[in-house]
Amino acid sequence: CGIVGIVGTEAAASRLVGSLKRLEYRGYDSAGVATLEGDEICRVRAEGRLAALADKLEKTSLKGTVGIGHTRWATHGAATEGNAHPHATDRVAVVHNGIIENFRPLREELVASGARFQSETDTEVVVHLIDRELQLGRDPVTAVERVLPRLEGAFSLAILFRGHDNLLIGARRGSPLAVGHGDGEMFLGSDAIALAPFTNRVTYLEDGDWVVLSHDDATIRDEAGQVIHRPQQLSQASA
Ligand code: GLU
Repeated sequence: CGIVGIVGTEAAASRLVGSLKRLEYRGYDSAGVATLEGDEICRVRAEGRLAALADKLEKTSLKGTVGIGHTRWATHGAATEGNAHPHATDRVAVVHNGIIENFRPLREELVASGARFQSETDTEVVVHLIDRELQLGRDPVTAVERVLPRLEGAFSLAILFRGHDNLLIGARRGSPLAVGHGDGEMFLGSDAIALAPFTNRVTYLEDGDWVVLSHDDATIRDEAGQVIHRPQQLSQASA
């Protein structure tokens, strides 16, 4: 299971898959990517090996330079394409490692307020919680800030927003996540090994941190919402 995110300047899909390959050692049962294509979020997902995802991607022509990728180790819902991440609505796409422990009551609440679920995963509640905030007119950063305190469990997340091609939000609680600093590009990854193809300048998020990435900035906030400085390190992971 692994997470990758790119706010980049070249086509993201193949870079995402290349990075996910470096996380294969963690094990997984399915994989997927989402990129911003103009004003749309496009997803490609596949059961099984990353090679199956790469095959599918060859038949599409994703050009987006901003995107997220995931290898899944299923905890809730079978290892099918429909349960593979990213999970998404028209407005937002999410990849998640870990478990949202309180997904059942959240799901009931969301279904009662009209959300249409497409998967059996615990993850999908995060998508609909954020989507609901966006529908209420909140900006992406405020939406995430309001949703994170509602989640119980251990997770790392990467979140992509329709209509925002200079934005990616990451969050971690009990599950690792690191920021990679490029030149005019920013990256998210489960670890420095995943980031090594892009950069060796890495910031490890602390528990409870969340980060707002653009092409040339990474603003980290702690669990209380305070902007906080975390040191940049030179990773030894080889590219
Ligand atoms: N709990 C989530 C799921 O079953 C994420 C699993 C993972 O960490 O890959 O889809």
